[in-house]
Amino acid sequence: MNPIPEPSAIVMIGPSGSGKSTLARTWPADYRLELDSYRWTVSGDAGDQEATADAVFLLTSVLERRLARGLTCVIDATHTGIEVRKRTIETAHAHGLPAAAVVMTTSLPQCLDRNSRRPANRRVPDEEVRRQHQQISIARPGLHADGFDHVVTDTRLMRMRLLLQRAVDRVHADHQVDGDHTEYARRVLARRFFGEDLAETFHWTHLRPHRDPIGALAVGGDEITLAYRTWFPDPMDWGFEAQVPCLGGCSGPAWMPVRSPMDLLAVYDDDFPEDIVRCDRCAAGATTREAV
Ligand SMILES: [Zn+2]
Repeated sequence: MNPIPEPSAIVMIGPSGSGKSTLARTWPADYRLELDSYRWTVSGDAGDQEATADAVFLLTSVLERRLARGLTCVIDATHTGIEVRKRTIETAHAHGLPAAAVVMTTSLPQCLDRNSRRPANRRVPDEEVRRQHQQISIARPGLHADGFDHVVTDTRLMRMRLLLQRAVDRVHADHQVDGDHTEYARRVLARRFFGEDLAETFHWTHLRPHRDPIGALAVGGDEITLAYRTWFPDPMDWGFEAQVPCLGGCSGPAWMPVRSPMDLLAVYDDDFPEDIVRCDRCAAGATTREAV
């Protein structure tokens, strides 16, 4: 159930620490206009109150341009003041779109508690949280009269279900990419071993039946070739090996286990233990010589 029609201007109304941003993040990223992040954009500090006017200027410009395109916006700011709310309502209506208020019902103690656990530059004085909470309690009965076409509370939205459904849809979509059920697991593994940023640069280059899949991390002209080894009996031991030059006296390729970004950095810097990096042929030769 989604009581808010789209496209529309969705106005989050709640004090600092009420969970607005967490809720707002259940909408697609491009919908979200977050005052704090525009503060960060103009000043490098999301908590810089001196940057508020510039941040509002940016937010308003983006809001205007998106609504003109008929695109939904979720505006993440406290919206305690009637003028701010009215301005957004008028902008939405000017573009023929409805305006919806999403009222956070988080209790004052919860808001204060969440606010106190924020990093210092994002923390609002307790007095300010109290003031915001009171202003919103007073404004709440009059939101329809303000001009909102829809007024809903956060508890009615069931956004968690939507988020879960989206995750499920993504799993199905990933499975359909090549009909290979392990593809999704492999992508997850890239994230597990190397972190979000590196995983974004990863793609499979060779997926052949009964062979270890080969992929690469590629950024600009830099590339590290990786094989995903599944020959260990325990799947928890499965993982990536990076291709490195053989240090056994030939110029062929060898493989070295990489289980972390630290391992990858060592590969990139050619800073790996010489005694373990051998191609199969050189390794076999060394073993034979030792055996003799
Ligand atoms: Zn070799």
